[in-house]
Amino acid sequence: MDLEKSHERPDWRNEKLGSRIRVALWLLEVIGEGNTFTKEQLHDAFPGITTIDRRLRELREDGWVIDSDRTLSHLGASEMLLTRAGEPIWEPGRVQLRRFKRFSAPQLRQKVLERDSYSCVHCGLSSVEGPTEAPVNVVLELAHVVPLAAGGSDDLDNLITLCANCHRLLSSGVQLPDVDSVWHLVQGLSPQDQARLLAWIAMDRKPPTQAEKAWSLYRRLRPEQRTSVAHRLGQAVLDRTDADSSD
Ligand SMILES: [Zn+2]
Repeated sequence: MDLEKSHERPDWRNEKLGSRIRVALWLLEVIGEGNTFTKEQLHDAFPGITTIDRRLRELREDGWVIDSDRTLSHLGASEMLLTRAGEPIWEPGRVQLRRFKRFSAPQLRQKVLERDSYSCVHCGLSSVEGPTEAPVNVVLELAHVVPLAAGGSDDLDNLITLCANCHRLLSSGVQLPDVDSVWHLVQGLSPQDQARLLAWIAMDRKPPTQAEKAWSLYRRLRPEQRTSVAHRLGQAVLDRTDADSSD
């Protein structure tokens, strides 16, 4: 956590602050980023404020990532997770600046998630898995295609769904690609990969391959379980290599 920020932060119990600001401060100071909370805890912290649930929705519009079981499959039905704090709305000037945008923003996150079928557009991981598959713990986030700092907007077209891993990965590479560099890479692909890419482009998403699904499930096994799978796979690949070389 940024020390500088926490120095400037007012006390969430200060009733002179608006309830939205107080909820934001409560989330940061009492719950903390990366921790879960329930609606009951929220109601207990703000007794008598009947519209307190609405404050959560508003914070989401200010870029606060507050996940529920809809976006994070391992959460319980009444559980929520403060995945990431957004705009420091307690800072003077912030509230007015954002307020007029609120009317165009509601359900934007929902729209983006629905359009992207609740899956990461980069790796295809989804929080909504089929009934026969083990649930996979996926954190879905929204990301800007063109970053806000580079003049990007909060419009639907400029927002994509990414899993937290891909989001971190992609935002660490600051440079934006251009058409030539993308085309150079595409030209160098094998015909099969080019056809695969074309299919992804047509679908506007990359569904996970069976191997990627297996990898994602494998990564969620306990160490001794991983060893077991690794051992069996090693044996299978080795057997096949032996069979090929004896042909
Ligand atoms: Zn991803």
